[in-house]
Amino acid sequence: MVKNYAGFYYVDTGNVLFQCRARGKFKKENIKILTGDRVVITELVPSKEGVIEELFPRKNQLIRPPIANVDQVLLVFSFNNPAPNSELIDRLLIMVGALELDVVLVFNKFDLKAPENRLFEYYQKIIPKTVAISAKESLGILELENLLKDKISVLAGPSGVGKSTLVNRLVPGAKLVTGEVSPKIQRGRHTTRHVELIKLPQGGFIADTPGFSNLDLPKIERNELQNYFPEIKQNRKNCYYPDCLHVKEPHCYIRELLERGEIPAFRYENYLSFLEEISVREGSY
Ligand code: GDP
Ligand code: ZN
Repeated sequence: MVKNYAGFYYVDTGNVLFQCRARGKFKKENIKILTGDRVVITELVPSKEGVIEELFPRKNQLIRPPIANVDQVLLVFSFNNPAPNSELIDRLLIMVGALELDVVLVFNKFDLKAPENRLFEYYQKIIPKTVAISAKESLGILELENLLKDKISVLAGPSGVGKSTLVNRLVPGAKLVTGEVSPKIQRGRHTTRHVELIKLPQGGFIADTPGFSNLDLPKIERNELQNYFPEIKQNRKNCYYPDCLHVKEPHCYIRELLERGEIPAFRYENYLSFLEEISVREGSY
């Protein structure tokens, strides 16, 4: 089901978009059919109308936007205008990881890249699906299209990085509203109440409404945080203390890597600041 609009469910069967009603049992049993749900329909021949008969079990379900069976999150940042904020990148990576969703990390506006900014190069090392693109100049779009093929993807990322421009580039005719970078329009542009999955020309879908606007860290324990930092997770076994949190413990291999410059200071600082955030929250229970 790709869209619930004006009392109808729209179901994409691969080559036809059916306008459907749902059997009364769903309402009776208080079951809500979500965008992203896989369903069985009967066709009301010879029209393009149908009836939803069954709902397949969901692999997962996001709350905002309300979508079922999400495969991955397309985290979009830009090389410049606005410049990427590593704290926000790392926070969103943790949020996506905690939901056990895959991530595609996109740096848009490659045409505006400042050579001294090395964030992209580092993330490319630790996040396998990291791509540099320009939605405006159509650079790197093929590579991204391959990563989106046959998947249900949800967008996330700050305002002004080019999410709408990107969707319009991927799906000619999607007509998402784009805007100039201006603080005045940072809120309110994505207030559409129904969420729609837009079909990608190569197969797969992308949600028209970005998610992850609430930036609270997920409910994880202090010692779990390191699992969301691949470079810490992979190297922690070399710390002297098995329960090392890499703060001040002696013979900490992670801090050794930091001193050697193999882990950049910004990543370690973000780790420490999230650790602090979790500690404060635990303390206030
Ligand atoms: P959103 O808030 O993330 O949906 O961002 P928009 O798609 O509205 O884009 C914000 C601004 O960035 C618009 O003025 C776009 O024209 C511009 N923009 C988008 N992609 C690119 C790009 O690749 N390069 C440059 N230079 N500007 C871009
Ligand atoms: Zn350590």
